[in-house]
Amino acid sequence: SASLRFHGERAVWLQPNSLDEFLRLKSEHPDARVVVGNTEVGIEVKFKNMVYPVILAPAFIPELNKVTQTEDGIVFGAACTLSHMGAVLKQAVQTLPPHQTEVFLAVLEQLRWFAGLQIRNVAAVGGNIMTASPISDLNPVFMAAGCKLTLMDKDGSRVVHMDDGFFTGYRKTILRPQEILLSIELPYSKKSQFVSAFKQSPRREDDISIVTAAMNVTFTPGTDVVEDLKLSYGGMAATTVLAKKTANRLLKKRWGEELLQDACSLLAQEMILDPSVPGGMVTYRRTLTLSLFYKFYLTVLQKLR
Ligand code: FAD
Repeated sequence: SASLRFHGERAVWLQPNSLDEFLRLKSEHPDARVVVGNTEVGIEVKFKNMVYPVILAPAFIPELNKVTQTEDGIVFGAACTLSHMGAVLKQAVQTLPPHQTEVFLAVLEQLRWFAGLQIRNVAAVGGNIMTASPISDLNPVFMAAGCKLTLMDKDGSRVVHMDDGFFTGYRKTILRPQEILLSIELPYSKKSQFVSAFKQSPRREDDISIVTAAMNVTFTPGTDVVEDLKLSYGGMAATTVLAKKTANRLLKKRWGEELLQDACSLLAQEMILDPSVPGGMVTYRRTLTLSLFYKFYLTVLQKLR
């Protein structure tokens, strides 16, 4: 069937039917704004006076809505709504062995406090990633979990890990103008791995976060010695960040009082904010980086028992 095309006074709306057509249009119009749920772009247009002359709406392209299980995890097309993703993850948590679903549970925890149902029913996972907001609730989880993202343009695709190289600045990512986000893979966790996510906002429900965090620790099997650790924070810089120095210094240490002390003093040195930073609440936000780690510390301690 023919794809839709609407011409308005200020904008052209292009709704491709196939992935090929979407990629071709994106290369013809690299400045076109991709719109799926419109819960970010709508705000920009209505309240920030942004004008996007060409809008590309790929919400109904099958590849962007697909969910597939692989050997390593579950792959979600970028246009999957948050509600759909939540339903799939809940199902996975019910059917898979518990040790495999630590990342999924962390995502579900964030979705529980993410906007309201109306927003979650239309907002897409790709829209959250690509907005690259420093206070995204999901990006810290994706980053701590080292999720794989598949990017595509008309000439092919590439797979990148979501690490601190993915976000290049305030609301900026490594995607080239002709590229789109095709999908994200959420990995299964391993037996000696624990993942948690936290959101602190003024109000519990339907509110913008002050600080978000996601933490992912893997122990040497059968021990409480840290083999791998990722601590990701939102609300502490212009992008979602990893507290790399802290995490590296905690490797090979046992999960105990001493590690907790070290983590707190290292985080206090690493997660700093300029007194004039947008959003204010500098002392509060810095304290949160420690108290959220403390929560993680206790959660993991209990699971290790
Ligand atoms: P859209 O507005 O359609 O697009 C967002 C951006 O992503 C655009 O720049 C678009 O070009 C780009 N994009 C989308 N898909 C692709 C793709 N496949 N390839 C390349 N670029 C793409 N966010 C939170 O983190 N936590 C919250 O609690 C929260 N609450 C909210 C509450 C309200 C009332 C509102 C309005 C928003 C809230 N948000 C929240 C922000 C927003 O809902 C999310 O970021 C959402 O995931 C965006 O998805 P979308 O499909 O609506 O994005």
